[in-house]
Amino acid sequence: MNILLIGPPGSGKGPQGARVAAALGLKHISVGDVLRAEVAAGTPLSELLARHMDRGELAPDELVIQLVVPRALAASSRNGYLLDGFPRSVAQADEARKLAEPARGRPNLVVYLDAPEHVLVERLLARARAQGRSDDTEEVIRHRLQVFAAATAPLLAYYRDQGLAQVVDATGRLHEITEAILALAAADAP
Ligand code: AMP
Repeated sequence: MNILLIGPPGSGKGPQGARVAAALGLKHISVGDVLRAEVAAGTPLSELLARHMDRGELAPDELVIQLVVPRALAASSRNGYLLDGFPRSVAQADEARKLAEPARGRPNLVVYLDAPEHVLVERLLARARAQGRSDDTEEVIRHRLQVFAAATAPLLAYYRDQGLAQVVDATGRLHEITEAILALAAADAP
């Protein structure tokens, strides 16, 4: 089974991704983590990526696709993937769909984690204090939320049209949200 986890910054994609992937034996691919590892490794792409990420902008599509799609297709040929943070725009979704075309790499379920903005800002500011991520300052947080609304939120309608999207309330307790996602996955299992 292949699952996409989509949601605004602070909606819990990372923690839920880890929990759901572990429960279902899927490969968890956190795109933010993949990109941060790339930056930390000081590869030729690092500077360009860091510039986008530190400003709360999306990294360039070609780069992200090049890093993510092969990993996802490899996982799909085994037990499946849980992708958190990809796609983040309709353009990325269209491109990934084309690349997955001959392989059986398409998602079976798209989970959209939903939470009101004040909850997200509170969580992100708390994370800023705890982890000191370079893109968790208040100004960049506001910008990331705008980028989400403009570029990523339209994916809900995109995947609804394909009959794949399900909305999960991301304001509850960690384990309740995990259970809600697992129930959707169980309902969807072949
Ligand atoms: P995250 O850890 O999911 O909050 O992602 C952190 C940052 O990584 C984002 O603000 C973007 O700059 C970048 N990023 C993550 N996923 C993508 C993606 N699919 N496309 C472009 N940029 C991304």
